[in-house]
Amino acid sequence: MPAALHWAPALAAMFPHAFRTPTMALLTILEFPDARLRTKAVPVDVAGIAAPEFQKRLDDMFETMYDAPGIGLAASQVDVHQRFMVIDISEEKNSPMVFINPEILGKEGEEVCQEGCLSVPNIFADVTRAANIRVRATDRKGASFEMDADGLLAVCIQHEMDHLDGKLFVDYLSPLKREMVKKKLAKAAREKKAA
Ligand SMILES: [Zn+2]
Repeated sequence: MPAALHWAPALAAMFPHAFRTPTMALLTILEFPDARLRTKAVPVDVAGIAAPEFQKRLDDMFETMYDAPGIGLAASQVDVHQRFMVIDISEEKNSPMVFINPEILGKEGEEVCQEGCLSVPNIFADVTRAANIRVRATDRKGASFEMDADGLLAVCIQHEMDHLDGKLFVDYLSPLKREMVKKKLAKAAREKKAA
């Protein structure tokens, strides 16, 4: 094996956002109000998690999320309507987390957080969510796990799980505000086309 391939995985683990192997690919992120974002995702067949295609899809989703840049990406956002998502809230982008078939087992408290979304570019709005959650999911090795989350991670998990149900953070806004968001995005799209 050439030396370059020996150190590649270690380097990729250290700098996942800066390091792209030739097999990785950036995926297209669907943008609001694309109707495909409203699809309710179906459960992942856990027997297929080890398949190279599924593992590659996870790698591509991390790559796409880091490149955007973002801290979470649900499969629904890249037009794959199955229940899984990738998250990394670390500043160093070195703590990738995979949630397959996630379920919220418990919720406590309330927290208001300003949210954004890769599918709703350049729009930020306050959303109220549970402050503490307990979640169960399957990881990329096919192992089931349970964890408690609070703060940004709790917000992110709830936000991404909404995507799997076809829900967007702008749905929490008033209809008037949501119309304003739609107009702003349509204008940005027109300007991008004209440029
Ligand atoms: Zn989002």
